[in-house]
Amino acid sequence: MGNLHLHPHLDGGPRGSGKQFSGGVLTCACSTNPVKVKVNSDIAHNHACGCTKCWKPEDATFSIVAVAATEKVEVLENGDKLAVVDPSALIQRYACKDCGVHMYGPVERDHPFQGLSFIHPERFEEDGWAEPGFAAFVSSIIESGFSPEKMDEVRSRLKELGLEPYDCLSPGLMDYIATWTAKKSGALPA
Ligand SMILES: [Zn+2]
Ligand SMILES: [Zn+2]
Repeated sequence: MGNLHLHPHLDGGPRGSGKQFSGGVLTCACSTNPVKVKVNSDIAHNHACGCTKCWKPEDATFSIVAVAATEKVEVLENGDKLAVVDPSALIQRYACKDCGVHMYGPVERDHPFQGLSFIHPERFEEDGWAEPGFAAFVSSIIESGFSPEKMDEVRSRLKELGLEPYDCLSPGLMDYIATWTAKKSGALPA
């Protein structure tokens, strides 16, 4: 597919699914005193994300992002280098002030994702985590300056990689959010 760079982890083509994963240590990109964050569980909902907020490597078009329960996430080393990128955002993305890598992003306010933290599994020192299963916010890559004319090419490449492209979240996650909202409003029994 020529010079279409989605993400270094995806550009090599489809990979086999990982073995059972029970957590690991996320490390930032600093060569000295890296921030280390431990995730004491498997991850869920791993996906490629086209939004402008997620951290991604330099020449990547998409990020790779998943969630873990915030209670399973702990900062191991050099936590003093962490700062929240945008304190007003739903996801409190803690990034390394030196290298810029986002280490974990808890959702603390009243929201269906409350109690979950967003993490970038490519930063795990360990292999074996579940591969991305879909692509979210695909149209949003245009907001980062990606050519709208190449969107068909991007969507077909994502499908080729087994990542169904969505312009919001996956139907499963959208249903999950809507169900939470309906229970909250009383439209569905709590
Ligand atoms: Zn760093
Ligand atoms: Zn994103």
